[in-house]
Amino acid sequence: MNTRHVPMRTCVACRKTFPKAELLRIVRPPQSPDVVLDEQGTMLGRGAYVCAQLPCLTRALKAKTLERALRCPLHAQLIERIRAIGEGGRVSS
Ligand SMILES: [Zn+2]
Repeated sequence: MNTRHVPMRTCVACRKTFPKAELLRIVRPPQSPDVVLDEQGTMLGRGAYVCAQLPCLTRALKAKTLERALRCPLHAQLIERIRAIGEGGRVSS
């Protein structure tokens, strides 16, 4: 097992790279018209990554960066959910 290799992904808001596990993944599954939050990081489909922190989440939502990355509009419900994660500080340091 190669435990030293950590998959890195780029946040769509700040364009910095982080370990995949530290980012929030938002996916448009191939069989669904709805964009969803991929909490396990295992769903198939076109995905976008963003830091699970309010500044990046806000920026990604405001600039429609996520919508552009996914080529799909986000549902109001999902936007609320993403915002709540940012404000709730899901990531503990
Ligand atoms: Zn970021």
